[in-house]
Amino acid sequence: MPTSPDAAGRARTSAVQPIQMVDLKTQYEQMQEEVDGAVLDVIRSGAFINGPAVKDFQSGLQDFLRCKHVIPCANGTDALQIALMALGLKPGDEVIVPAFTYVASAEVIALLGLRPVMVDVDPFTFNVTAELIEPAITDRTKAIIPVHLFGQSCDMEPIVKLAQRHDLYIVEDNAQAIGAEYTFSDGRVARTGTLGDIGCTSFYPSKNLGAYGDGGAINTDDDALADRLRTVANHGQNRRYYHDVVGCNSRLDSVQAAILNCKLPRLEQYNDRRQAAARYYDEHLAGLPGLLPPARLPSSTHVYHQYTLRIDGDRRDALQQHLQAAGVPSMVYYPVPLYDQNAFRGTAANAIDFLPVTDTLCKEVISLPMHSELEEETLAYICAMVRSFFREV
Ligand SMILES: *Cc1c(COP(=O)(O)O)cnc(C)c1O
Repeated sequence: MPTSPDAAGRARTSAVQPIQMVDLKTQYEQMQEEVDGAVLDVIRSGAFINGPAVKDFQSGLQDFLRCKHVIPCANGTDALQIALMALGLKPGDEVIVPAFTYVASAEVIALLGLRPVMVDVDPFTFNVTAELIEPAITDRTKAIIPVHLFGQSCDMEPIVKLAQRHDLYIVEDNAQAIGAEYTFSDGRVARTGTLGDIGCTSFYPSKNLGAYGDGGAINTDDDALADRLRTVANHGQNRRYYHDVVGCNSRLDSVQAAILNCKLPRLEQYNDRRQAAARYYDEHLAGLPGLLPPARLPSSTHVYHQYTLRIDGDRRDALQQHLQAAGVPSMVYYPVPLYDQNAFRGTAANAIDFLPVTDTLCKEVISLPMHSELEEETLAYICAMVRSFFREV
């Protein structure tokens, strides 16, 4: 018998599990002992900063990504900022970035006094392409930040060739696609994040590889770049109290590294589960008029950080309300093109103030629940609720 409102509330929520966009609790319960032990080990060791757990994670991630250097840092936004700082760009230098992405990708460019040049994306993969980037290149362009949005790799081979032709750096924003693979036309297969000069990723809790707080990492195969990245992330010093450049302080803490060490060996399995959920959605939402499933590039795997549909005819918000009334959460990533954000109004970044595909996507996209713990029963209910919207209207 519930004895207090609090107990009554708990009883109610445990009886009916609400559907969640992301379910971190169930994932934790499946490895609770291992995670608890790893966290306690760090606390008991007292090695909170740059402890052995951080070094283990660094080498584990190098193996996973099949790259030479990983520099762990405090979050994914820092990873992007440190990458741009290590490239030694000058104020006014231009960096090409998609207008349809999370703000972090463009924010760091502006923060460093560089100029974000926003470009449109492909309407089906939601990603930038070489064709869309090329017209934006000027003699001030120094770098491109392709974003592997929602877990789908950009078509990188033409982008790499374009960057080589124009002598541009590629900094991949791999925050949403860790574990995805891209196949080049010569058959070479590589992880996203290792396709350009520097890869940046985030361990924000809801990312495919999430910590229980903030975390991030930078990776590169270039020894000299790796040295500069390490220096910048560590107050510009190689030797303690001797500072060669103005850097920042960005570290992955040992507790987060210990948690990530438990989860990294499970990442492939987590991504497999996401792909299975995506296949279920693809199959059970096929053929609904004006509803477009997310495209998958034949040359890459998709790790479905998000499962993002497009719905035409100004019906997106109505679909979202319909789902909400049925207890199905959904999200709009992203509702506003970056060039329309107040932060960029009246700045050089706002020189481009309309891109047709980005504009349409912001009005049409909707992301369904996606995580590694989705059961078929839940997926069936979500799909039935999406389909019922099309019967009603
Ligand atoms: C999450 C994310 C980031 C930033 O990561 P944080 O760890 O939250 O700073 C950057 N870019 C993209 C595309 C992201 O999804």
